Amino acid sequence: MKIFLATNNRHKIEEISAILQPAIPGLEITTINDYTNFPKVEEDAPTLQGNALLKAHAGYKETGLLTVADDTGLEVFYLALQPGVFSARYAGPEATYADNNTKLLQAMNGVPPRRRNARFRCAVAIVGKGIEKTAEGQIDGFIRESARGSGGFGYDPLFVPAGYDRTYAELTAEEKNIISHRARAFVQAADMLKGMLL
Ligand code: IMP
Repeated sequence: MKIFLATNNRHKIEEISAILQPAIPGLEITTINDYTNFPKVEEDAPTLQGNALLKAHAGYKETGLLTVADDTGLEVFYLALQPGVFSARYAGPEATYADNNTKLLQAMNGVPPRRRNARFRCAVAIVGKGIEKTAEGQIDGFIRESARGSGGFGYDPLFVPAGYDRTYAELTAEEKNIISHRARAFVQAADMLKGMLL
């Protein structure tokens, strides 16, 4: 059994494989990294779910394999749920994780702890022959006043999940992958995939 995971982000590939492969014995996962000149998908939908669907449809069209894609956004309540769907491009079209984190810390400069609530949301789409399914996972937390931790990626050093005193970047990969927005979405996706593949 083989699926196509429409990403080239090695952090996402690790996190998603760690959920799907134990849940679906024998599952083989190919990614954009296994292809040369994979066409770039413009992620210009107004919602996370819309972008996940764009990526999953493009992946299915290109590979013919049952395709899974995710799109994630960090929603900060003080910033009226920004950066949200623009999380990857928050500090500009070519922004690095560090650029985005710096911009977020600046935007939250001086904001008191009780107003630093945020949530991660992850939308997953599964597309195949006659198949179009979506799932979503989210987790509440808050934005720290400075970065801490070296694990994970993206906004992980700034995000403390509710009930924890460590950032995502200070959790082990296993800890993050039990509670995360992505884990919550992909546990549902694993069930859907089981029904399609097994
Ligand atoms: P994407 O569009 O789903 O690739 O994600 C948008 C942006 O959200 C990425 O560029 C990352 O900065 C950030 N992001 C996605 N997932 C995570 C995560 O699990 N932790 C921290 N940041 C993330």
